[in-house]
Amino acid sequence: MSAPPIRKIVIVGGGTAGWMAAAALSKVLGAMPGLAITLIESEAIGTVGVGEATIPQIVHFNKLLGINEAEFMRETHATYKLGIEFVDWTRLGHSYVHPFGQYGIDMLGIEFHHFWLKGLALGDATALDAYSIGAMAGKAGRFYWPETGNPNSPLARLAYAFQFDAGRYARFLRRRAEEAGVTRVEGRVTQIEQHPETGFVTRVALENGTQVDGELFIDCSGFRSLLLGQTLGVPFLDWSKWLPCDRAVAISCTKRETGAEDQPLTRSTARKAGWQWRIPLQHRVGNGHVYASAFMSEDEATETLLAHLDGTPLASPNHIRFTGGHRTRVWEKNVVALGLAGGFLEPLESTAIHLVQSGIARLLAYFPSTAFTQVEIDRFNAETAQDYLDIRDFLVLHYKATARNDSEFWNYCRTLDPPDGLKAKLDMFRSSGRIVREHNELFTETSWLSVMACQGIVASDHHPAAALLPDDEVLRRLSHVRGVIASAVSQMPTQDQFLASIGGA
Ligand code: FAD
Repeated sequence: MSAPPIRKIVIVGGGTAGWMAAAALSKVLGAMPGLAITLIESEAIGTVGVGEATIPQIVHFNKLLGINEAEFMRETHATYKLGIEFVDWTRLGHSYVHPFGQYGIDMLGIEFHHFWLKGLALGDATALDAYSIGAMAGKAGRFYWPETGNPNSPLARLAYAFQFDAGRYARFLRRRAEEAGVTRVEGRVTQIEQHPETGFVTRVALENGTQVDGELFIDCSGFRSLLLGQTLGVPFLDWSKWLPCDRAVAISCTKRETGAEDQPLTRSTARKAGWQWRIPLQHRVGNGHVYASAFMSEDEATETLLAHLDGTPLASPNHIRFTGGHRTRVWEKNVVALGLAGGFLEPLESTAIHLVQSGIARLLAYFPSTAFTQVEIDRFNAETAQDYLDIRDFLVLHYKATARNDSEFWNYCRTLDPPDGLKAKLDMFRSSGRIVREHNELFTETSWLSVMACQGIVASDHHPAAALLPDDEVLRRLSHVRGVIASAVSQMPTQDQFLASIGGA
């Protein structure tokens, strides 16, 4: 006989993770009779207050919730994002875009970049950006929706994400979750009760005396990891050896006063002991400096940040400490952690909100009954650990693949011994220009190519099939692809024109 279904879900924490979970679970499971979802949050504690850049999967999350994009853009003061511009990562004075969407167009059944590599060998040194509609539109400040119905259109190779005000996004989701029946409880959780034999969490008690019982607890309490880390004692896997940045200082500022339009890009500029983000929203610019405390003091990091702002600061600097890594089991007993409570990898590729989203999808796929069978829990944990590992390797690539030798930090990064998975990818690309995408990992061939090729990893060969096409034909086709992309970009509206046209600004 099957065990009774879960009737009471308790979400502890109302940051981006908590409200994403509440909105999605109430949308998907809300129709189940007798299911109660409660979210507890403490305004006095507040949220981490950062987390504004996303990757294209967020578009699907919003669609799942039935969110109207124009309304969302308006209410969260969002902008579009076609990729990330990396400045000074390869060497000082160099920049490139890691775009969403694909480069060029596959030919003879093999990936476009092999023809680009052949072009390089023939002396055509055009940078990869010219073959990406996302990179070119981003740099030109233009935006349009992808044309999914027409595979021959360059717009079919475009993908986009959002940059939004995280506080507004949480409130936007909160309204939907409450309308779908989620109960919000305000207050600080001070006690957590566990079953004396199984150790399962049974109840949380708040400072004001309120008690909330549950069967499934979702820990969205941020870096505190109140249930998973503090109560159940699940250890943290520390990756700071490969990702030495462990601090951030963040601040919002006004937009440039010149009236210039922003590009639909997040910008990451490498600094002496880390990097600085710039995330342009409709009403302000989010900025932060991620740095390694072993190589730079808090004062110097703050000064560096403040010296590189577009406009006037809108608040005082927000200092955040973190360690790169994750809890070894993100689901333990009847507690599932989402967001910072489960782990954190620095925001270099804007992956944290995506990890919340994929955690929710995975929880729905392995949704437990009151039996909480271990086989599903183990599977959930193994898949989550793999996600973190794949993303870690991609982030480490950015630090490893650099020619910078102008500071102790960059010398450490350039000479570090890469994790095995990254090493195998680097070896393969160096040998033949091939990129191996393992087990449907989050970052595609485009992403790996972008960072490897643009940060100076040299492929000594290309796919033999590219050699079959005569040299002048390869050069002609490369030039044609560039021309098609440039022409398509010139016909796209600017981002501001586009936002105005959909009523999203
Ligand atoms: P939090 O926002 O910290 O929320 C925790 C919640 O738990 C709060 O509501 C708090 O009140 C509540 N809480 C805690 N303790 C208690 C208690 N005892 N009782 C009651 N309630 C409690 N992600 C991206 O995708 N893109 C980015 O660009 C990005 N940039 C980032 C930059 C930095 C420097 C950092 C640190 C993170 C960044 N992230 C980014 C990550 C992103 O901010 C988080 O993943 C996301 O906001 C989710 O946070 P959270 O909800 O887990 O935690």
